[in-house]
Amino acid sequence: MKFKAKFNYKEFLAYIDKIRTNLNTTVLIAIISGAIIAICTYNIYQFKASSYLIKVNNKPIGYVKKLSDVKRILNSIKSTEGDKATKSINYSRTLEPVKSFLTVDEAEKVIRCELGLKIQAVAIFANDVEVAKVHDKNTAEKIIQRVKEYYYPKMSNGMIQILSSNIKEKITYKDVLVESKEILNVDDAVKKIVNGRNLEKNYIVKKGDTIWDIAIKNNMMLEELKAANPNINIDKIDVGQEIKLAVNQPYLNVEIVAKIKEREEIPFDTKEFQDKNLSKGIRKVKVAGKNGVQDLEKVVTFLNSDTLDEDVVKSTIIRHAVDEVIAVGTKVSTYVATGRFVMPSRGYISSKFGYRWGRMHEGIDIAAPRGTAIIASESGKVTFAGWRSGYGYCVMISHGNGYQTLYGHASKLYAKTGQYVKKGQKIAAVGSTGRSTGSHVHFEVRQRGACKNPLKYIK
Ligand SMILES: [Zn+2]
Repeated sequence: MKFKAKFNYKEFLAYIDKIRTNLNTTVLIAIISGAIIAICTYNIYQFKASSYLIKVNNKPIGYVKKLSDVKRILNSIKSTEGDKATKSINYSRTLEPVKSFLTVDEAEKVIRCELGLKIQAVAIFANDVEVAKVHDKNTAEKIIQRVKEYYYPKMSNGMIQILSSNIKEKITYKDVLVESKEILNVDDAVKKIVNGRNLEKNYIVKKGDTIWDIAIKNNMMLEELKAANPNINIDKIDVGQEIKLAVNQPYLNVEIVAKIKEREEIPFDTKEFQDKNLSKGIRKVKVAGKNGVQDLEKVVTFLNSDTLDEDVVKSTIIRHAVDEVIAVGTKVSTYVATGRFVMPSRGYISSKFGYRWGRMHEGIDIAAPRGTAIIASESGKVTFAGWRSGYGYCVMISHGNGYQTLYGHASKLYAKTGQYVKKGQKIAAVGSTGRSTGSHVHFEVRQRGACKNPLKYIK
């Protein structure tokens, strides 16, 4: 349902009745008041309306309110373009209701565009470098503000309060006459400013320069340097050679000081102590470390997107960090290799060293019931205790002078990698893990990696 200037109250009340069921009284009053205000405004507006329609080459351009507005526009165009320029402009008074008027500046701009004339604009200068041409000073100021906001720090978990934001360059605005296509809108101007400009410079290679030096000194990446010099082999440069540098320089540099509140983790410390009951080479975590949590309040200074300075003004510990405590084994001196090996297990030799069924058997097999102790054949350091494919659970011990022994197919391991063991010390239990048929120890003696017949070393 639409209301006209002259409306029927009965119709209006009927309409209200219809919707009353769905609305509460407050909303209803608001609707009625709104309708009445709209109707009154419309009527007053109609009585006062008198305006001037401007046409260029008989094409309507828009309305201005007063005759003096028209005169000002014509004089302004005459002043820069001469009397002839205004010949195709005409205007007429009208009593028609007008929805929106152009300001004098807007109307002049539209007319100038229509006539293909230069239009009034504002150029933004940073120091003495022209940055962008925009419609007017308001737009220019809005752009500067948007550039500052572009560099405001952003964070997902925390609070930021901008204390100050200043542009390091001296910003000035100058009135200029330009062609309409030279004028940038707010988004494009902001984009241009933050993207910066590429300044092409030439660089003459000096004695001692490497391509890395040149890239780093000029704030470029090697790929960028290569891209700027497609015809030069960058890896072979000579003294005196000319290289192109494409240096990106931002139009504006924004210094932002912000107060930042955020929650951070406190890394835990690690404390070690020597444990003489633990074998040398063994490290055992006694207490697991845990990061703490703190709330920080910092004042941070940024230049564009780079952090220049950070000052913690307040820190509140929410949870303390827990130190990690590690026991470091020192036990070593009592175990000295004797140079004589002993049988690693009770039992009988079920397979000898050498070729059997066309394959080399690299050790001896000692058959014994599952669970029988496997002992260190000689003192030494356990270099491996764990699972090896084929060997199953196995232990390897290094004895010095390049000697190493291996005990395979165990059902259980007692020794740990890194541990020092004494001759005769229980290191595992007989089993049949890995590639094995029946319970036995597979025992190897190696010297500097080469397999030896264990029986020749067992005294
Ligand atoms: Zn074997």
